[in-house]
Amino acid sequence: MEPQPSDCSYCARDERLSSISIEICRLETSTLYLFREQTYRGRCVVALNTHETELFRLDPDTLGRFSRDVSRTAAALQRAFGPDKINYAIYGDLAPHLHFHVVPKYRNGQGWGQPFALHPVEKQYLSEEGYREVIAAIKEHLSV
Ligand SMILES: [Zn+2]
Repeated sequence: MEPQPSDCSYCARDERLSSISIEICRLETSTLYLFREQTYRGRCVVALNTHETELFRLDPDTLGRFSRDVSRTAAALQRAFGPDKINYAIYGDLAPHLHFHVVPKYRNGQGWGQPFALHPVEKQYLSEEGYREVIAAIKEHLSV
């Protein structure tokens, strides 16, 4: 395992992270965040709790648990919001700490049939109440 670098926002869990996301809860081997930009209703990030940069560097047990965390998140989003498809993406050029974007897509919504926009031009932010509602719906369906 690599050391947890202080220049990594997912390790530091500082304002760089809280400015773009809200922590929902810890999962088996990762932390689930709601992405503040909600063009794709329910969009989340599942970030590994340790600083690793590539899937192939994970031991098989961690890889399995990380995959289950992502799958469990996607199932909760499906039950909570009924998207037509869920997109999954790992990029990390600028933030190499392993994190999955888990993005519900809707047939009549933005970018159907195309890769989701990492940072949409027209941003959709919610009120604090709006974030609370989305997070409550995700939590309710995570526990099923
Ligand atoms: Zn990190």
